[in-house]
Amino acid sequence: MSKQILILPGDGIGPEIMAEAVKVLELANDKFDLGFELSFDQLGGAAYEQYGVPLADETLERARAADAILLGAVGGPQWDAIDPALRPERGLLKIRSQLGLFANLRPAILYPQLADASSLKPEVVAGLNILIVRELTGGIYFGSPRESRVLENGERMAFDTLPYSESEIRRIARVGFDMARVRDKKLCSVDKANVLASSQLWRTVVEEVAKDYPDVQLSHMYVDNAAMQLVRAPKQFDVMVTDNMFGDILSDEASMLTGSIGMLPSASLDANNKGMYEPCHGSAPDIAGQGIANPLATILSVSMMLRYSFSQSQAADAIEQAVSKVLDQGLRTGDIYCAGTTKVGTAAMGDAVVEALRSL
Ligand code: NAD
Repeated sequence: MSKQILILPGDGIGPEIMAEAVKVLELANDKFDLGFELSFDQLGGAAYEQYGVPLADETLERARAADAILLGAVGGPQWDAIDPALRPERGLLKIRSQLGLFANLRPAILYPQLADASSLKPEVVAGLNILIVRELTGGIYFGSPRESRVLENGERMAFDTLPYSESEIRRIARVGFDMARVRDKKLCSVDKANVLASSQLWRTVVEEVAKDYPDVQLSHMYVDNAAMQLVRAPKQFDVMVTDNMFGDILSDEASMLTGSIGMLPSASLDANNKGMYEPCHGSAPDIAGQGIANPLATILSVSMMLRYSFSQSQAADAIEQAVSKVLDQGLRTGDIYCAGTTKVGTAAMGDAVVEALRSL
């Protein structure tokens, strides 16, 4: 039976990078006889324009019925002034929570060819391979109450709420331990347990889960220290597990260690490994429409999809090899360009990966 993949290009550079990822996916589909059927819909600002909401009910149903979802990115300044409940990012949060995609896997891998593109010294980042496991459907981005109001004295105030239940912490901790188990068996749990009640519970529950994983070495780190250690000595980390907001920030920081956020894929999985796959970066409105965005994070998201949702490791490996080959050829989009390499645009980069994959 064919497998259904729903493609949501999104906004800004989303359609540009997705076009390249789809070329690679279609070739992998033929080459490895994967039996995928692709369908397309809208999310974010593009959905707001088409349906009047950032995630239409029919799109959500299509997403539920699909075996996996591939997303570009959402958001843009043209939607900054609309009703906050209809903003593009709300569509993204809704699809993640409605599909129960609670585990966000964000690898930060430094391709050796890009060691000079990192903002850190090559010796600090050479061989870097970190996996950040971010809780994605709880915490402060979803907590209620959340409110902005004007006080009696006329001053404006606003607040958010950071809730975590024991079961939410336990299931993401398990993902962290499971991932560590098949890697270097080191898990660092990141929290702010010296200040936050939710983090104190987080630490307690992670310790409890650790009893089931005696083969994994667990450590704890406060998020402020983790932010510092990521730029001081990032190779000390194997797998990091953390909450929604800390993971959001730390994974962007980790991305810069690898040269560019344009290189980093991500997977958001539910309890059955059904997933939505997307680059870690946003819609990059500053470069949208110019044909210069780096499509490799989205192409590598295709590879993660093949690996995690479809157990097609041979096809996933081939896509990663094709990306590596293109970097070996010296091709670089602007975000990873350095002297001595060849600057190319989005489509040329995608075509080069397709050619490399075809010739493997
Ligand atoms: P961003 O990730 O879109 O851009 C940050 C910087 O990185 C920009 O200078 C951009 O040009 C560059 N960049 C990002 N992706 C790139 C690529 N593939 N190739 C080359 N350069 C790239 O973050 P932002 O500017 O903070 O946010 C822009 C919009 O994206 C906002 O509306 C934000 O809400 C949204 N956003 C969406 C997602 C998502 O869809 N998952 C994630 C983050 C931000």
